[in-house]
Amino acid sequence: MEAALRGQGVAEVPCGSCSACCTASQFVHIGPDEEEALAAIPAELLFPAPLSPPGHVLLGYDERGHCPMLRDGRCSIYDRRPRACRTYDCRVFAAADVGLDGDGEIAGRARGWRFSFSADEDAVRERAVRAAAVYLRDRPELVAGDGAVLDATRHAVASVAAHSAFVRRTREGALVLARPDPEDVRRLLQLASDASRGSGRA
Ligand code: SF4
Repeated sequence: MEAALRGQGVAEVPCGSCSACCTASQFVHIGPDEEEALAAIPAELLFPAPLSPPGHVLLGYDERGHCPMLRDGRCSIYDRRPRACRTYDCRVFAAADVGLDGDGEIAGRARGWRFSFSADEDAVRERAVRAAAVYLRDRPELVAGDGAVLDATRHAVASVAAHSAFVRRTREGALVLARPDPEDVRRLLQLASDASRGSGRA
């Protein structure tokens, strides 16, 4: 999940037959470097992305809230789908324990995820993600800026991105929860912001 959020990989989500994120009235951001996706999507479905440099566009949705590239319940351009779709991972809501109380399809799907851990450290990291979510809930300006509303997606993604500030190694080498250094949190959030700029759903 961290690699995908950094733009260094594809989210390996076992979606099965679920297409909730393609039918949730979301705008899909496409950067100018995404030549294959841009070639696969009819130009009339794209429009300039607000507050973004020239060349960044959004793919909208139809009157039902469905992505127009969704055909018969499947992505018709799956191999050439935008980066935002390749990196989208609804498990982030369950990992951070945020955004699960909505009645949308994504919230419903996200509520169903259960995690198991092959190593004790992974369980500590999950608790660190949730600790980060609580910390950021009380300091939304760190993610959304002064006066802006912290939406569930940004909150959950930021919690994963910042979680390593909430763990430390003991002298014996064990990973344990720790009180975060605010500068560490800011640094990790900035790194995540830099990596994800220009790719996402809104
Ligand atoms: S481009 Fe494909 S994966 Fe992305 S939202 Fe549309 S149907 Fe879903």
